[in-house]
Amino acid sequence: TKTVHVIGGGLAGSEAAWQLVKAGVPVTLHEMRPERQTEAHKTDGLAELVCSNSFRSDDFETNAVGLLHEEMRRAGSIVMASADAHKLPAGGALAVDRDGFSHAVTTALESHPLVEIVRGEVSGLPPDDWDNVIIATGPLTSEALAKDIAALTGEAELAFFDAIAPIVHFESIDMDVCWRQSRYDKVGPGGTGADYINCPLDKAQYDAFIAALLAGEKTEFKDFEKTPYFEGCLPVEVMAERGADTLRYGPLKPVGLTNANRPDEKPYAVVQLRQDNALGTLWNMVGFQTKLKYAEQVRVFRMIPGLQDAEFARLGGLHRNTFLNSPVLLDGALRLKAQPRLRFAGQVTGVEGYVESAAIGLIAGRFSASECKGEPVSPPPPTTALGALLAHITGGHLSADSSSGSRSFQPMNVNFGLFPPISVPRQPKAKEPRADGRRPSKSLARKTAMSARALADLDAWL
Ligand code: FAD
Repeated sequence: TKTVHVIGGGLAGSEAAWQLVKAGVPVTLHEMRPERQTEAHKTDGLAELVCSNSFRSDDFETNAVGLLHEEMRRAGSIVMASADAHKLPAGGALAVDRDGFSHAVTTALESHPLVEIVRGEVSGLPPDDWDNVIIATGPLTSEALAKDIAALTGEAELAFFDAIAPIVHFESIDMDVCWRQSRYDKVGPGGTGADYINCPLDKAQYDAFIAALLAGEKTEFKDFEKTPYFEGCLPVEVMAERGADTLRYGPLKPVGLTNANRPDEKPYAVVQLRQDNALGTLWNMVGFQTKLKYAEQVRVFRMIPGLQDAEFARLGGLHRNTFLNSPVLLDGALRLKAQPRLRFAGQVTGVEGYVESAAIGLIAGRFSASECKGEPVSPPPPTTALGALLAHITGGHLSADSSSGSRSFQPMNVNFGLFPPISVPRQPKAKEPRADGRRPSKSLARKTAMSARALADLDAWL
């Protein structure tokens, strides 16, 4: 069998390579780090998580990303197996120890007899004798390669903000002010119901904090930044600009939490920190991606009660994102229409998130393996999370046609809105509350039904 060249050893490239070698197809995996770093990566490990250590909800019955986790597990994903092996307590979310996770993926690939790992940048279109290529170079695709892809497609690149939240050293957090609790005491995989550190703000403190956020000095706008923010990753100060209560109804909402130090005082707003490493020495500020200048971040974030002496292991920052107008450029098997030997995977195809990027890597690896073995390429059913995500990027997004000048295709996290509709029978009135305390609603019933349908259809496809 001919070798498949996978360019980029991130979430998507690592998963694609794994799926190929599991199908018996040899892979050469090209990764430019450590020879050349990106603006966000810090290590030479494969599948490095550049920001949060969370894979988000692990609930596969009612949450679309949890469902995607489960589908990938069933499809033999190396990313999910490594995440499960290195998970950390985080309420209902699947959070991982980033070094342990990356090391597990790296070791699995390095020790596989069909994998060759070549360190070095592929600094332009791949040579003509590479017949089967998967480009999984991510949101920070190196400039030389991005330039050649843009020349080939004529419309390949789009840049917008993506932002990093600060990380705080545990020992610098004042636990006489803060307390540990998951929202609604939710116990997730490996969790205790007390997985977050909570910082309470009263009204005066909240108002002063919002005012400081708004007044704080921001980094300058650069040319590449003059594109709209992705709504899922808004800088905290941009949310604050939208109204005094926006944060209080968003990441700082005080619901489902009781101040353990002062149980009779209802906080007006709560800042949450999530465990960032296995040792529990580092905690990241949930929702605090920011473009405030470093010195301003230290000054403004120390206004938060409990963080008055905070020492920061990492401050927030801003980053570029590169992705294709996939609905126009790619065929249903993720190949570039203009040059079908080039297949794309990961964030560069216009999905958003670690899990979604790895998921598209999984699909691309399977497509490529089928092609190499002369088997028909069979896409995952559109009723599955994998299929729904694939349909989002290749399925003729309504206004993806850039000839009209109104290119609206934007990266997307997986969500039930991408799935074909399902009708659910009317819910009988529940006599007993559910074990998890949630009320059965029509939308919950619909999600549950969509998940059950997805997993049945996935099993048939696998
Ligand atoms: P990557 O994981 O970035 O992998 C691409 C790889 O290709 C890299 O290892 C890179 O070194 C290599 N490469 C690039 N060009 C070349 C070349 N020419 N030759 C050889 N190798 C090359 N998602 C989340 O779910 N949660 C987050 O908190 C989050 N934060 C993010 C923060 C930032 C700053 C950015 C940029 C993105 C963030 N994302 C986040 C989005 C996205 O999920 C991640 O970027 C994810 O890593 C994308 O996976 P990928 O495999 O497509 O790309």
